[in-house]
Order: sequence, then C-alpha cells, then structure tokens
Amino acid sequence: MKKLEDVFTKEDLEEIFKFSKAASNALKGVRRGVEVELKCPICGEKAHAGVCTNNGHRHAKCGACGRAFIE
Ligand SMILES: [Zn+2]
Repeated sequence: MKKLEDVFTKEDLEEIFKFSKAASNALKGVRRGVEVELKCPICGEKAHAGVCTNNGHRHAKCGACGRAFIE
C-alpha cells in the first residue's frame, strides 16, 4: 500500500492543508446550499466553497490553480 508521502511531496501536502484550512474557515457557520467566495491561499485568486444541500459535505475549489477540497 502506498504511503501518502509517496504520492504527494511535502510541499503538496502543505498546500493541500493550507487550502483545506482556508476553506474550512470560510465555511464556518455557512448553511447547506450556500456558496461563499474565499481568497485562494495558494495563488491568491478567487476560490469558491460551499456546503452540499443533500448531505452537508463541504467542498471548495480554486478555478485558477485547481486546488480543491472535498470533505
Ligand atoms: Zn488558487
């Protein structure tokens, strides 16, 4: 079985962590079905985050650098 470190570099993991954290913060108190905008911590462009209406899962994606976060 592959370890996380074999698939992602340390820098990748740090960026993923940063993006997830920013998305988490942006989604605090956000209700289901609501989309919010946040500043991408990786590239500084606009990213979108939201809470799924059906299952309450949180997700975020930056259109500029392609970083994404799905819970
Ligand atoms: Zn970005």
